[in-house]
Amino acid sequence: MDYKEHIAIVEDWPKEGVQFKDITPLMDNGPAFKAAVDEIVEYAKKQDIDIVVGPEARGFIVGCPVSYALEIGFAPVRKEGKLPRETINVDYGLEYGNDVLTIHKDAIKPGQRVLIIDDLLATGGTIEATIDLVEQLGGEVAGCAFLIELTYLDGRSKLDGYDVLTLMQY
Ligand code: AMP
Repeated sequence: MDYKEHIAIVEDWPKEGVQFKDITPLMDNGPAFKAAVDEIVEYAKKQDIDIVVGPEARGFIVGCPVSYALEIGFAPVRKEGKLPRETINVDYGLEYGNDVLTIHKDAIKPGQRVLIIDDLLATGGTIEATIDLVEQLGGEVAGCAFLIELTYLDGRSKLDGYDVLTLMQY
């Protein structure tokens, strides 16, 4: 399946110099979206996953259908102040300044094999922070899956020792 024909490339959005990869045309195409989700489901089966973790917001869009297909749980990672119960937090660097990601303290049981899913791997800051949260809770990161990898930003260098699946590379 050529997924790239369903990705819209938007120049200089949300700011000048950024080439935004818009996955909404892929989501809008039932067979293409299903094929992409199914590939990640097959990967999850191979990695023997117990639970899916996805950062907001596009990690929910790609991660939830995978957990549904496998009849396993999904744990959301959210920006600070969005989760209602006790959380653990991690600070992570953005291009300008910092942000905080959080997960419910009881979202993952120690020893669970976790698949982290997001739409896109860019600098790797988001996945690095998400791995940190999962490991603080005693989860084992058994895989990281993305629709898109921006190889020119080398996010993979932050994922040494982790298993990574990406369906498209730019
Ligand atoms: P990073 O933490 O740099 O790996 O960025 C990953 C997150 O930012 C993902 O959740 C993406 O949704 C978003 N993102 C970063 N760069 C882009 C881009 N060029 N196009 C679309 N989304 C992006």
